[in-house]
Amino acid sequence: MSIAKKLPSILIANRGEIACRVIRTAKRLGLRTIAVYSEADAEALFVEMADEAYLIGPAPARESYLDADKILAVAKQSGAACIHPGYGFLSENAGFADACAAAGIVFVGPPASAIRAMGLKDAAKALVEKARVPVVPGYHGAEQDVTFLAREAERIGYPVLIKAVAGGGGKGMKKVDRPEDFADALSSAQREGKSAFGDARVLVEKYVLSPRHVEIQVFGDSHGNVVHLYERDCSLQRRHQKVIEEAPAPGMTAEVRAAMGKAATEAAKAVGYVGAGTVEFIADGREGLRADRFYFMEMNTRLQVEHPVTEAITGLDLVELQLKVAAGEPLGFTQADVTATGHAVEARLYAEDPEKGFLPSTGKLWALQFPAGEGIRVDTGVEAGDTVTPYYDPMIAKIIAHGATRNEALDRLAQALGETVVAGPRSNLAFLKKLAEAEGFRTGPFDTGFIERNLAALGAVPQPLDAAAVAAAALQLEEDRQEIGVIAAAERVDGESRSPWLVADAFSLLPRLPLGLPLLVDGEKVEARIEWHEEGARVSLPGHEIDEGEHEISLVQAEAGTWLALHRGRQTAVSLYDPFAVDLDAAGGSGGVVKAPMHGKLIALFVQPGELVTKGQRLAIVEAMKMEHVLTAPRDGTVSEVVGTPGGQVAEGAKVVVLGE
Ligand code: ADP
Ligand code: ADP
Ligand code: MG
Repeated sequence: MSIAKKLPSILIANRGEIACRVIRTAKRLGLRTIAVYSEADAEALFVEMADEAYLIGPAPARESYLDADKILAVAKQSGAACIHPGYGFLSENAGFADACAAAGIVFVGPPASAIRAMGLKDAAKALVEKARVPVVPGYHGAEQDVTFLAREAERIGYPVLIKAVAGGGGKGMKKVDRPEDFADALSSAQREGKSAFGDARVLVEKYVLSPRHVEIQVFGDSHGNVVHLYERDCSLQRRHQKVIEEAPAPGMTAEVRAAMGKAATEAAKAVGYVGAGTVEFIADGREGLRADRFYFMEMNTRLQVEHPVTEAITGLDLVELQLKVAAGEPLGFTQADVTATGHAVEARLYAEDPEKGFLPSTGKLWALQFPAGEGIRVDTGVEAGDTVTPYYDPMIAKIIAHGATRNEALDRLAQALGETVVAGPRSNLAFLKKLAEAEGFRTGPFDTGFIERNLAALGAVPQPLDAAAVAAAALQLEEDRQEIGVIAAAERVDGESRSPWLVADAFSLLPRLPLGLPLLVDGEKVEARIEWHEEGARVSLPGHEIDEGEHEISLVQAEAGTWLALHRGRQTAVSLYDPFAVDLDAAGGSGGVVKAPMHGKLIALFVQPGELVTKGQRLAIVEAMKMEHVLTAPRDGTVSEVVGTPGGQVAEGAKVVVLGE
């Protein structure tokens, strides 16, 4: 029986790229697709793609994508046969799965009991341990007292990892190397757990050395079949969050795969798993992947962000399989039928600034272009002209490359990233390209610390001014200025405006003196000088070298008067310097002003006016996007001013602490 007969319509309780991804398969299978969206997403691609779309509330997720009642009301009103929760939001919310069942709507996911069983990391570890799945040594009991946990940490042996039991997305997790740092790390993990997941409880476990994240995609149906669809290696991470994922795992052997596959399917069977799920293992990679050196970390009871790499090598559509299973049909294949072809890699393209500690970046996408080539797949939820807002995860797209070999897949990925254009928000495009090309990643061995150890080589540290990019933008700004100036002059002469080209011609007859052009480059004042020669105009930037090599720079116009110069995946924003729009703090030397790196909540202030501080000392903590950002003193000094109160909101760039001499 076809899926669409049993499940004729589907509501997607999610947004962005995953909503688009689910809609694509649902449409192909002939289902009527129903989107729900927040006010911030009224113009979004997924809303446009769906057959029907319903506004469910304001931008904050709590009032829209996390509002189960509203979503269920729309599901009933629109007659949705099933609900796909995507990832994040309500996807691992057992109460929501129950509520769907109570409303007679099929939840495209595992039974609520399986979500519950795997929902908390401590309980999940205890449960799979009984099914004889190896777990990371540590303490995952109920005792939460700092003295007790510190003693457990000593027993386990440093380094240890403190994890919020309700954590996810790499949040609420602290690695501790020395006993003296334990108490601070514990309270920070508890705070993050409490604020992001409403649960302050933690577990403590051994920090596995040379850790590699290898996970197994599992699939179960309601007829008792459970299979695995190979593994994914997600070891390229930053702050415990995946950046690049691939399948199969480099260095995987048939023996290790069989052992991991067995452990994963055992874990799934232990909770009566149905649908798509991922069992995550941490492997001690000091001597390559070994059958006796991997440990269960957690099970994600949903479709995973990185599922496309599995689809690429197995040729299966995981969303189709989810729907098939949700319709009550058997999987229709056995473990022996699952095969893998070639190698696939995925890179997560984010609106964030690697040169500034990967701070999320927002704003309008003035330009956005993706490559299309052999073996390339792009999953995105945005188009040029859309805006990346601060309300949700700032992922722009996933670029997936498939090739016959790992090298071919990585070559294709690097090439595809080189052809990708993002202008507006900062992005990690250049960083991803360097990663795809990184020798150490290509030849191995590598582990989850690879990115952190290679930040400088990957360009993820403050970079000098991109003088070639500034020069290109300066010429463009000068051209714009001439056009405007001469159009005004032309109007004065004969009262009608002219084509810019004619005007430029007229202007070129005028004598040309070298010109000093004050610019604003990414918020800093930069002096440019333009000189005209026989062969054309030449820009110099006093104090900066512009190398004579080949530069492929494209210019994208942002808001009036601002050009975004794109050069090897990096963006430089250039406008004419406007002395009336200067940030006085910046002009006065920002060395003593400590500002909030982004919009968020001030959750702790450690200093008071008059206090002496030393360079690097912790001054305050700002929480944004569920992460804590510690503000430290840029130099020694005395606190002259403290702005804001703990618990209050701070705007991006707002003063938090001012240091005097
Ligand atoms: P994956 O292993 O598939 O990458 P993650 O745990 O990193 O899964 O999370 C997947 C997505 O869900 C990410 O975009 C993350 O920001 C989001 N996410 C994770 N936990 C939550 C949560 N509790 N609430 C909302 N979104 C979440
Ligand atoms: P989340 O729910 O945030 O995904 P996980 O428990 O899956 O949390 O851990 C996230 C990442 O942290 C892992 O992918 C891995 O890189 C790292 N990690 C987790 N546990 C350990 C450990 N015991 N030793 C070393 N690294 C770990
Ligand atoms: Mg995880």
